[in-house]
Amino acid sequence: MSESTQQSRWLGFDLGGTKMLAQVYDGDNKALGRARKKTKGTSDAKAGLERIAETIELACEDGEVDPKELSGIGIGCPGPVDMESGTLLDPPNLAWNRVPVRKYLEDRFKCPVAVLNDVDAGVYGEYRYGAARNATCVIGVFPGTGIGGGCIYRGEVLRGGSASCMEIGHIQVMPNGPICGCGHRGCLEAVASRLAIAASAAKAAYRGQAPGLAKAAGTDLGSIRSSALAASIDADDEIVKQIIKEAARQIGIAVAGLVHVLSPDVVVLGGGLVEAMPDLFTEHVAKAARKRVMPVYEDSFKVVPAALGDDAAVLGGAAWVQHVLKQNESQAEEKS
Ligand SMILES: [Zn+2]
Repeated sequence: MSESTQQSRWLGFDLGGTKMLAQVYDGDNKALGRARKKTKGTSDAKAGLERIAETIELACEDGEVDPKELSGIGIGCPGPVDMESGTLLDPPNLAWNRVPVRKYLEDRFKCPVAVLNDVDAGVYGEYRYGAARNATCVIGVFPGTGIGGGCIYRGEVLRGGSASCMEIGHIQVMPNGPICGCGHRGCLEAVASRLAIAASAAKAAYRGQAPGLAKAAGTDLGSIRSSALAASIDADDEIVKQIIKEAARQIGIAVAGLVHVLSPDVVVLGGGLVEAMPDLFTEHVAKAARKRVMPVYEDSFKVVPAALGDDAAVLGGAAWVQHVLKQNESQAEEKS
């Protein structure tokens, strides 16, 4: 590796609905410094962009890197994004609409910025360094507050003409199902996200059917985090186990549809909920998906838990901006 590559500094950023995380890396993707802030409370986009920039500066400070030295920033944003212009379109969990993230950060930090969907960033991280290394086609499903999806197809983020895609959470799985945050009915995330699971589990705890959960978190929806659900299962709350199995089955049904469309070799499941119960989730998603695919696809894919945890999206973002710059360079060379 050349000296200049080793000395380069890259920043990966994960903009979530509740928190933001920035991480600085050197040219070998060794982590140098990180910073975290809450996203909540920044209802207007201008204050939000300012907070993103501050978090980047704090991560640089933590890693003793001058922000002027940054070679590039890769930022994963919630919801659909326009990857070409680097615009955040209309995230369902943030009241920001059509925010020019790339332009703002390029003006401020004077370095190239690549914007992608946060789950695409996470799946790209898993593809480069984690559970899906070197796969030909990776589909990622990350159940959390909603259910995010992403796909890396032959080394590239699979995307549409004007927006990022793989909004797996909004595939309709229940025509007359509950209303989703997006306004439609019966979306996968309305029936199988952590929020949907927690709501059913809270009811069970309230009825006295889940004593382990009632002890770990009470019946308040806001307190029923992934760890409380895992504790409930460890305490043999059979009903909570059934609720989670049913959610995994719904996710598996959606995965079966995607297997027919894209024939992935790896399906990565990530997020706090999967992290808290990796075996239960992977087993039941895989089972439901295999049952529903054409025989030729039955053994064509594996279902694995993500390996990088919170680092997937920041590492993926930092690796993605390097990939984009390399692509641009080779295209420029071809033209000259
Ligand atoms: Zn929806």
